[in-house]
Amino acid sequence: MPSGKVHDQITIAAAAACVPLWWNLTAAPRDLSAGVVLIGSLLFSGLLISPDLDLNSSIYKRWGPLRFLWWPYQKAVPHRSWMSHSYVFGPLLRTAYLLAVVYGVLRIGLWTIRAVFPLDRNALSRQWLHALLHLPREHPAHFYMLVLGLLLGAGLHCIADTVWSAAKRRF
Ligand SMILES: [Zn+2]
Repeated sequence: MPSGKVHDQITIAAAAACVPLWWNLTAAPRDLSAGVVLIGSLLFSGLLISPDLDLNSSIYKRWGPLRFLWWPYQKAVPHRSWMSHSYVFGPLLRTAYLLAVVYGVLRIGLWTIRAVFPLDRNALSRQWLHALLHLPREHPAHFYMLVLGLLLGAGLHCIADTVWSAAKRRF
């Protein structure tokens, strides 16, 4: 498979290419923030939650002191399996995993804060869940751009891996 650096370059080039593409394919008046969500989620998908998180890779190390959050994922998911290197399931699984981890960390954080400030942890959790579940209805353009960016970031990685393996077999 290509090196992490090559995958990074593909992701950055794709994000740059998405700017004029998004501009030309979107009808005026354009919501610039939706375009920013597309570029941001593509970069996030390719540079931070790439399929190679299933390995002790440069992406995994990029998480620095927080990389322990991905350790269970890395151990549970076999490298280049359909669970990580697939076009839809892989990015969905990593997004769901990250959301679950962030939720757990926030719950623990609130539990600690509650020792000092009185707050309703469950009410806050309900608010977060409500915001997440209502995102597609309340901000459809942003939601679709977010999903598209996440899928594109992972998809380009899988395509690059497939092309690289095929070329290696051939030559
Ligand atoms: Zn890969």
